[in-house]
Amino acid sequence: MPADASSPLVPPLSPSAVYVFPDLDALDAVYEGAAAGYVYARDGHPNARDLADRLTALEGGRWGVVCGTGMAALTAAFVPLLAAGSTVVASDRLYGKTTRLLKGELSRFGVATVFVDVTDLNAVRAAVETHRPRVLFAETLSNPLCRAADVPALAEIAHAADCRLVVDNTFATPALCRPLDLGADVVMESLTKLVGGHSDVTLGFVGGTDAAHGETVAAAVSAWGLSAPPFDCWLTLRGLETLPLRARAATDNAASLADWLAGRPGVARVAYPGLASHPDHAVVKRLMPTGAANMMCFELAGGRDAVNRFLRAAPGIPFAPSLGHTSTTVSYPWGTSHRFDPPADKLREGITEGLVRVSVGCEPFEQLAAEMAKGLAAAAS
Ligand SMILES: *Cc1c(COP(=O)(O)O)cnc(C)c1O
Repeated sequence: MPADASSPLVPPLSPSAVYVFPDLDALDAVYEGAAAGYVYARDGHPNARDLADRLTALEGGRWGVVCGTGMAALTAAFVPLLAAGSTVVASDRLYGKTTRLLKGELSRFGVATVFVDVTDLNAVRAAVETHRPRVLFAETLSNPLCRAADVPALAEIAHAADCRLVVDNTFATPALCRPLDLGADVVMESLTKLVGGHSDVTLGFVGGTDAAHGETVAAAVSAWGLSAPPFDCWLTLRGLETLPLRARAATDNAASLADWLAGRPGVARVAYPGLASHPDHAVVKRLMPTGAANMMCFELAGGRDAVNRFLRAAPGIPFAPSLGHTSTTVSYPWGTSHRFDPPADKLREGITEGLVRVSVGCEPFEQLAAEMAKGLAAAAS
């Protein structure tokens, strides 16, 4: 057979768990790095490599690894940086499972976590100086009320204390914010959300600036079994093709929706960092000059009953407790992401029984507004 004169435009899917070698010399060459190749899929495969390379370039990192979920990526980022006796200083408004990882899992291995309000830089500085942590951890935009982490200021505090700044950039995405450019040492994303973008994969990414840390993360992925399956990587690579377009369209829709919602009957407040009324509006404008992303919350004055009426009257905006889908979905922080937090903690964060979280999508704005109008009319009735 003559060699092919053409090649596929779309990367092939490589589901193989293991790779074949012609002899021992070929195996040695791969292990020693003298030849490119893979041995066993938990340690690497072409679809994970393609996706990691693309995301690493998008983040401006020196290394990047794809993991089976966002939580796997966080585990892979943390484990090599921590040991028994070390401390993490973390935001007190994290994704619920991240708090659980730090407080309920890593704590059993002798890692202590101190939670602080990362929007209060004096409090962060005091915590870092007192506890001398290995890691300072924050989310670019918090869930659900989009409180922002001032990444350059946090990086300065961390680096003055010989500590790494790790940022969960899931809500912002690399299309709108690049934490490594702003001084973070490590960036992590749940690709399950906006980057995958179609609610059909669970996957995570971690990348950073220090190549030696990258090698220890890759070793942790193999030993802790955190690797990503080929088909999910392949689908996410496909999602990544449209990330900039989807991020743009959803951000424009979110800005329009925030204006449209503000002051509607029955809407007690709108929390969107693109609005001047948001407490972190100025920080977000500086960190994300091209737009404040697609996540927002609004509060229905009628509480839980009004939320139920809204959901039943607006089935075109599905109630689905995740985010980052192509079209708009809503979630209910009181009963989903923050379900198991004591009510006093929820209220301290601003999470009330009437609060609805919106993941704005890319559908035409008129379609979104028409469905929202149906929901709000029912909520107010
Ligand atoms: C969803 C999410 C995670 C966890 O990602 P999974 O892919 O669900 O494991 C972490 N951080 C944030 C901000 C998230 O929204």
